[in-house]
Amino acid sequence: MLRVTRFLSKIQRCNFSAQTIPKPTENPEVLYSGIFINNEWHKSKSGKTFATVNPTTGEVITEVQKGEQADIDAAVDAAHKAFKFGSPWRTMDASDRGHLLYKLADLMEKDASYLASLETLDNGKPYTAALRDDIGLSIKAIRYMAGWADKNHGKVIPIDGNFLCYTRHEPVGVCGQIIPWNFPLLMFAWKIAPALATGNTVVLKPAEQTPLTALYTAQLAAEAGFPAGVLNVVPGFGDAGAALVANDKVDKIAFTGSTEVGLKIQQASGVGRLKRTTLELGGKSPNIILADVDVAKAVEAAHMAVFYNQGQVCCAGTRTYIQESLYDEFVERSVERAKKKVVGNPFDLKTEQGPQIDGTQMEKILGLVKEGVNQGAKLLTGGGRHGDRGYFVEPTVFAEVEDSNVIAREEIFGPVQQLMKFKNLEEIIERANNTNYGLAAAVFSKDLDKVNYITQGLRAGVVWVNTYNSLPVQSPFGGFKDSGHGREMSEYGIRQYTEVKSVITALHQKNS
Ligand code: NAP
Ligand code: MG
Repeated sequence: MLRVTRFLSKIQRCNFSAQTIPKPTENPEVLYSGIFINNEWHKSKSGKTFATVNPTTGEVITEVQKGEQADIDAAVDAAHKAFKFGSPWRTMDASDRGHLLYKLADLMEKDASYLASLETLDNGKPYTAALRDDIGLSIKAIRYMAGWADKNHGKVIPIDGNFLCYTRHEPVGVCGQIIPWNFPLLMFAWKIAPALATGNTVVLKPAEQTPLTALYTAQLAAEAGFPAGVLNVVPGFGDAGAALVANDKVDKIAFTGSTEVGLKIQQASGVGRLKRTTLELGGKSPNIILADVDVAKAVEAAHMAVFYNQGQVCCAGTRTYIQESLYDEFVERSVERAKKKVVGNPFDLKTEQGPQIDGTQMEKILGLVKEGVNQGAKLLTGGGRHGDRGYFVEPTVFAEVEDSNVIAREEIFGPVQQLMKFKNLEEIIERANNTNYGLAAAVFSKDLDKVNYITQGLRAGVVWVNTYNSLPVQSPFGGFKDSGHGREMSEYGIRQYTEVKSVITALHQKNS
C-alpha cells in the first residue's frame, strides 16, 4: 500500500519512467456489469443487455445490463429514499461523509493498476496516461472534495432588528449525472465527489461505450461504507439519460458531453420542474503562439494540446494560431513531431496514441478531414485510418487553414491539428473569440504585457499561459457561451451542489 502511495505521488508529478510503473494487465477480468442500485447488483428490468467493445480490436469485451426508464426510475426512487430527512445519510456528520470519500479514494489507490488496465481496455487510451491522469486525478479529486465535506459553512449575517440570521449550505437533493466516454473514471469522480461531499444522493449514467470503471468503482463505494441508495449507477444509452432528466424526483442534472445533447438537456430540465443544471460541453479552443516563444517547447505543448487522449478532449487546443514570422518553422516542426508519434497497442508503455473510441467517431473524424481538404486546407501528414484493426486514426496536421473552414469551426474530437497564421494582437483576440464555444484558450509568449493583454481579451472559462491542459482539482473548470454553464471542481464546484437556506430567528428581549 505504501509502495503504491509513493508511486502515485510520483506519477502525479509525471515523474516516472517505463521501468518504475506497475505493469498493466492486458486482459483485466470484468467483475461488474450490472445495474447498481441500493448497493446491490441488478439485471435490467427489460432483460436487455448491450456490448461494450474494446476499441483497440473492435471485439466485444462483455455484455452489460441495459438500463432503461424503469431501471432509472428505480434508481431515482432509491436515491430519493436515501435523501429523506432523518435518513442515515442526512443525519451523518459532515466529517463522516468526508471519511467515506477518503476511504473510497484509498480503495481506488489500492486497485490503481487494475482500474487503469480496465480503462485502457474499455476506452483504448494508453495505459500510462490512464494510470497517471485518469486514475491519479480521480483519486485526487475525491480526496480534495472529501476535505470540503465539513468546511462547507454558511455565514451569520447582522440583519436589521433583534434577530439571528444565519445561512446553511444544504444539499440540492437527488442529482442525476450523465457523463461521456473520453475520461470515464475522471468524469465519474468529478461528478460524484462534490455531490456526495455536500450530502446529495446520486444516480449516474456512464457513457454506453465505457461503463466498466464506473461500475467497478460503485462497488468500491459500497465497500467503503456509503449507505444504500446514496450512489446508484445505471449503464445504458441516451434514452436512459433522457429518462433521468425527465424524472420529477431529480432535483439537479449535471452533464458533460456534446453541446447538441447539452441543449436538449437544458430544455428538458425546464419541463414540469425547474431542475438545476450544470453543463460542461464542447469547445474549439484557440491556442495562440507569439513569435517570441521558445519554439521547441511551444511546438511540443501545441502538439499535446491537440493530440492528448487521441484528441478526444473538450478543451483541446484545436485552433493553433501562430504569429506570421514564426509560422513556417512552426509548421515544419509540428509535422515532424506528429510523424514521430507512437500509435498502437495502448497497453504498450511506449505507446502515445491509442484508438478512437469507436467506429462512428473514427468515420466522423475521417469525414471532417476530407471536408477540410475539399475546402482548401493543406494536409501535410496523416489524414487516413491507421492500420485495419480497431479504430485508429493517423496523427494529422493541416496548414493554411482558413477560419471559415469546417475543420477550424467544428469540434473534430480526433488527432487532427489545424495550424493558422496571424499578424497582430487585436486581430487574434477577435479571431480567437469568433466562435460560439468558450471553454478554454491559451497563449504562449515571454512578453508579459502581451500575455496580459490577450488574457483579458479572451472569452473562455480557463486561459492557460505557457502551458496547456492543466486541470488541477483546486481550480474551477467550465465554459463561457455554448460551452456550458456552471463550474466543476474547486470551491466553485462545491457551490453547484448546494442550496443556500437563510434561517431568521426572533431573539427574546432581555426583560420580555
Ligand atoms: P453525447 O451524445 O453528448 O453523450 C454524452 C452522454 O450523454 C452519454 O452518456 C450519452 O449516452 C448521454 N446522452 C445522449 N443523448 C442523451 C439525451 N437525449 N438525454 C440525456 N443523455 C443523453 O456525446 P457522444 O455521442 O458520446 O459524442 C458526440 C460528440 O460530443 C463528440 O464527437 C464530441 O464532439 C462531443 N463530446 C464532448 C465531450 C466533452 O467532454 N465535452 C465528451 C464526449 C463527446 P450514450 O452513451 O448512450 O450516448
Ligand atoms: Mg468500450
